[in-house]
Amino acid sequence: MPGLVVNPRARIFHGHDWVYASEIKKAFGNPQPGDVISLKDFRDRPLGSAIYNPQSQIVARRFSRRRQELDLDFFKRRLDRALSHRNTLRLSPHGFARIVWSESDGLPGVIIDQYDGTVVLQTNTLAMDQRRDLLTEAIKATLSPDSIVERNDSTIRKPEGLETRESLLHGASPNPLSVDLSGFAQTVDVLGGQKTGVYLDQWDNYRKVAALAKDRRTLDCFTNQGGFALACKAAGATEVTAIDSSEPTLEIARQNAAASNLEITWQNANVFDHLKQADTDQARYDLVILDPPSFTRRKGALKDALRGYKEIHLRALKILETGGILATFSCSHHVNHETFLGVIRDAAVDAKRQLRLVDTFSQRADHPVLATLPETEYLRGFAFETIGAW
Ligand code: SAH
Repeated sequence: MPGLVVNPRARIFHGHDWVYASEIKKAFGNPQPGDVISLKDFRDRPLGSAIYNPQSQIVARRFSRRRQELDLDFFKRRLDRALSHRNTLRLSPHGFARIVWSESDGLPGVIIDQYDGTVVLQTNTLAMDQRRDLLTEAIKATLSPDSIVERNDSTIRKPEGLETRESLLHGASPNPLSVDLSGFAQTVDVLGGQKTGVYLDQWDNYRKVAALAKDRRTLDCFTNQGGFALACKAAGATEVTAIDSSEPTLEIARQNAAASNLEITWQNANVFDHLKQADTDQARYDLVILDPPSFTRRKGALKDALRGYKEIHLRALKILETGGILATFSCSHHVNHETFLGVIRDAAVDAKRQLRLVDTFSQRADHPVLATLPETEYLRGFAFETIGAW
């Protein structure tokens, strides 16, 4: 097996599974893009098997501590392990879940979501993309789904040199599905919706934020298909306004609201402009939810992203009543816990508001986090109450 010798101080010696270009001492055996390679330390001791892509900054991603090929049997074993982990997680019983979350399930770049009989596959690394057929076979053998759809439209494919692609890999083209999330509907349109149709990672947080919403005038910014807005209204928020700049997702949100018999004011607007205008108009809310897209996927663009984050927090705080709640999320793993809190703190100082933490949020448990691979954690959230001066 061809491979790489890794520099002594590389992160892989601290439990990480990635090898960056700067961490390579030398290559041996002429590894080709997409190959399975073996990793070795400078004393020639084996560190495990990895997938190789010299075009990416992350040149190698280890998927096993042993010598291991990527064959059908391997993929079936990994799927079985991922499923048995999900069975230990008391997920809500609607049969919709992320069943493979990339490195956290020992399959770097592979994401698999299941919506009853429909399975959605993403292969965001070169090696896994090349083995899409094997993955499809393994999914068929393990889950016997009606349909398997490939939603390979993520921008994170670009650094791997991969084109975006959507296709039906198995079975009949699935129709949009609707699921009841305790009191409100969510439509799942795996071929039409953003991402794999819905934001599964937020599904437990709808309930948690809604628990804070009773009798509150609520503003849901970046609502997408209306998850937070609908959950809050169902939980007794007095009036709910929800904003998104994408008309197709708002249309689905409207359908979700109609199916759930919930009244929401949907606004197609840019959140930045809307919050500014709301302040000028002296609109006031008791709960503001901020769930923006990841303003950066690149570490280099972090500064600009943080400026954007700060601006929406500042504007949101200005339109919150004293005693109101700000529920805010960040879905970029470059924005760690401390950085995110720092932005909120800065905004609070500028807005002259005192904030008290009332809840914290994370990605749903079916998107597990590996302790030694911090990049597997990307979604963080806080709920703060604005308190009056002592
Ligand atoms: N809260 C949603 C997920 C939000 S995803 C949920 O739980 O399902 C981010 C959303 O922000 C997307 O729907 C995108 O269309 C929207 N968006 C991105 N930039 C925006 C902007 N400047 N103003 C309004 N909406 C924006």
